[in-house]
Amino acid sequence: MSTSTNLIHKKQLFGHPVGLFVLFFTEMWERFSYYGMRALLVIYMIAQANDKNGPGLGWTELEAYQLYGWYVMLVYLLSIPGGILADKVLGQKKTVMLGAIILVLGHGTLAIDASWAFFTGLGLIILGVGCLKPNISTMVGGLYEKGDIRRDKGFSIFYIGINLGSLLATTFVGLIVAKWGWHAGFGMAGIAMLLGLIVYVWGQKFLIHVGNKPTEEDKKDDVSILKLFLNLFKFPIQLVIVIVLLALSIYAGFTFEGVDHWGYGGLFMFLSLTVGLLMMIYQDLKSQIEKDRFLVVLLSFLLVIVFWGAFEQAGGLMNVYTNTKTDRILFGWEVPTPMFQGLNAGFILLFAVWVANLWAKRKLKNKEASSLFKMASGTIIMGLGFVFMIFAVRDYEANGSSAMYWLVFAYLFHTIGELSSSPVSLSFVTKLAPAKYASLMMGLYFAATGLGGKVAGILGEKSGEFGEYTIFIGITIFTVLFGLLVIALLKPLKRLTHGAEDDEKEIHLSDDNEGYELAER
Ligand code: GLN
Repeated sequence: MSTSTNLIHKKQLFGHPVGLFVLFFTEMWERFSYYGMRALLVIYMIAQANDKNGPGLGWTELEAYQLYGWYVMLVYLLSIPGGILADKVLGQKKTVMLGAIILVLGHGTLAIDASWAFFTGLGLIILGVGCLKPNISTMVGGLYEKGDIRRDKGFSIFYIGINLGSLLATTFVGLIVAKWGWHAGFGMAGIAMLLGLIVYVWGQKFLIHVGNKPTEEDKKDDVSILKLFLNLFKFPIQLVIVIVLLALSIYAGFTFEGVDHWGYGGLFMFLSLTVGLLMMIYQDLKSQIEKDRFLVVLLSFLLVIVFWGAFEQAGGLMNVYTNTKTDRILFGWEVPTPMFQGLNAGFILLFAVWVANLWAKRKLKNKEASSLFKMASGTIIMGLGFVFMIFAVRDYEANGSSAMYWLVFAYLFHTIGELSSSPVSLSFVTKLAPAKYASLMMGLYFAATGLGGKVAGILGEKSGEFGEYTIFIGITIFTVLFGLLVIALLKPLKRLTHGAEDDEKEIHLSDDNEGYELAER
């Protein structure tokens, strides 16, 4: 590699590698396309032939929610094969490129007004996000050397890009649809993704050292995922566990009806096989340190599922609550329901740096600021946000509608919780995952968020039976207790990390230039 390419890679912007900003803008456009399309999907499915934005699909709400739930879950679940493809074959950088191209095609297909195009487009988007989302996040981690304290902040900056995309999309796509119809909105998402692809291709020179194909050296003692999985036959206890799980999955599948019958059966079987694979990866890891770190990352995914299971009420139950039970009149103007979705992204832009600094300062003062602590605290803070929803329901019961500020406070707490937890989890995975399974682990992380999303959908469905009040109280109690449990178990859990985060402080205490030196080495 020439000296000039070497130097360009080392360039810094605002104290971070320039590559971070290439990934920032690529992901910003990707999220613009994703959230823009997501904002339209359900309302397009239930829109009738005479809808003011042009004919929709005319489905029932239930059908639309069902497809939406499965779609969002699959989008994130496909991060597992997306991660494997990167780890084993293409490397993260090329897999992200492939994902971006598939996404341009997927959104472009949705712009065509035909039912084959609708399903093909969704299928392509599921594949595209699966290739792009986990791997671009792993690449952010790859920009920083081990122990570089800037890593968490780098993820917070990256997270701003995600939400900038989401805020722009929720603001503009609705306006475009109102003026030019559904397919113009979907087409807009396609153009956004094309911009993302262009930024990514242009910025390759800043990404020379990250996300490369696994080398022959990497592959030397490497086993294929299939072979690894087949190792199960050498471990009778683990094999029996997987067989029992598979049998239970088939049984559980039959307890559901309609689409859900195949959906849940298939999902549980997939999860059972994943459990088998994870057990074999555990066996494959060489040192106890690697094994323990792998285990603690997997355990942290339980917290991730709980977090997103509660948080994702935003798109479902809280959204419907906003629409039907909130007094949305502000100075004589009715605030449109989708705008409340923008509160989360807006608060992220306002508070991301503040929250990241707050935690960094805490760490400097030698107070507890491990990733697991931040993730647990984030879950508790987010859960406390539901207390405002409990007040909202009481307000509604007493006055026939509830005030908007309850939602504003709820989303504020949700956002502070998200900022303490979500970028930190991404960073945590990149710190602790065994190098040769780095992308797979990130894929699993996103799959866990997807499962959380599914849990959120189920809770939403149950609100008809139990009422919103009970659901909101239940979520508050469960999230707070679960967060506290993790804090209570912090010591043994941190022992499993084998000090992966301990050396960060030392680097921070050295002067800034030395810190950057380390990242440039
Ligand atoms: N809102 C974040 C994003 O779009 C996190 C989503 C998730 O992890 N499920 O990237």
